[in-house]
Amino acid sequence: MIERNRCKSTTSTGNPCKGLALRDGYCFSHSPSLEEKRDQARSQGGKNSAKIARLRSLVPPRLIEVYDKLENALGEVHQGKLNPGQAQAMASIARAMVAVLTAGELEERVRSLEDNSKENR
Ligand SMILES: [Zn+2]
Repeated sequence: MIERNRCKSTTSTGNPCKGLALRDGYCFSHSPSLEEKRDQARSQGGKNSAKIARLRSLVPPRLIEVYDKLENALGEVHQGKLNPGQAQAMASIARAMVAVLTAGELEERVRSLEDNSKENR
């Protein structure tokens, strides 16, 4: 691992931040020059939360749990608490779960369409 490519700051636990350093030597979360952008992103996040809430209501409940776990994992990888390989494995498993669930949902829709067309004959 090349030292200068890592963020110069420390995490809340006091360990060196493992975020990738930008030009100023800090990661996106710690860079003083990006403070304004971060504030913008945060307020934008507030504006988008209604949209996110609406989208979440469309996601199968089991996948919301998966999403929350992945979101946590992202933070933990950034903080150096979670091995990126483990996070990669989580992401692969999650992708497979989504594929299985969406295939099941598609099958259900096709069957209901088929049933409807039989009734209409
Ligand atoms: Zn950092």
